[in-house]
Amino acid sequence: MRKKFVAGNWKMYKDKTETVQLISELIEKLNSYTPEVEIAICPPFTSIELAGELIKNSPIKLGAQNMHSEIEGAFTGEVSAKMLKSFNVEYVILGHSERRTYFKETDEFINQKIKRAIEFDLKPIFCLGETLEERENGKTFDVVENQLRLGLNGVSRLDVEKIVIAYEPVWAIGTGRTATPEQAQEVHSFLREKLSKLFDSEIASKIKILYGGSVKPENARDLFKQPDIDGGLIGGACLKADSFYQIILAAQF
Ligand code: PEP
Repeated sequence: MRKKFVAGNWKMYKDKTETVQLISELIEKLNSYTPEVEIAICPPFTSIELAGELIKNSPIKLGAQNMHSEIEGAFTGEVSAKMLKSFNVEYVILGHSERRTYFKETDEFINQKIKRAIEFDLKPIFCLGETLEERENGKTFDVVENQLRLGLNGVSRLDVEKIVIAYEPVWAIGTGRTATPEQAQEVHSFLREKLSKLFDSEIASKIKILYGGSVKPENARDLFKQPDIDGGLIGGACLKADSFYQIILAAQF
């Protein structure tokens, strides 16, 4: 049985004071009741150390939103896997559509980052998903299969277990437009089938595949009930403790 996993992607939100406030509120809620769900938050780099301190002795795990593929070097503005590891970061979001779109990240670059993250014992949350145009042209399955293959190129059977996949249709991110549970399940089961072809069915059955794209307390339960949806990567709704907590609760049933 795969344990449900809910991760919050804070994106470029929350300064120092707001970080303290959001995490304190979330911990207070979790103290009253902690469901059997794995929970992670991915704050911006400026809040990583503080968040790490605040979540100590809580069930919340720490993630980052990005990293460079090189260990160190002249890459102004970038952060490495080694640096993240030194702050006890456990997860790192890689291949988010905002990185692919605004920062022109390629599948090859994402693949290098995935391998580097694993080398430094970070668990990648590997995002993939089609655009609206691709969906409307019937290309969804080709696109996600290609992203999956290229992203996992050269990753061993042993290492792929450390990866969490996040299916995030680009048209659903931050738009308020969510994939229906059936639409999402269809892609998730396709991805699991591809994983079993790329590796084997035992490995494929162990890998968590999250859904991301306008998940809210109102739609989380129906999405998470689908057999191949193992939780969610949450953007907008993780910025308030209450809605993030409601989504965490929805992952438990
Ligand atoms: C995301 O950024 O990964 C995301 C899913 O955002 P939102 O929930 O706001 O659509």
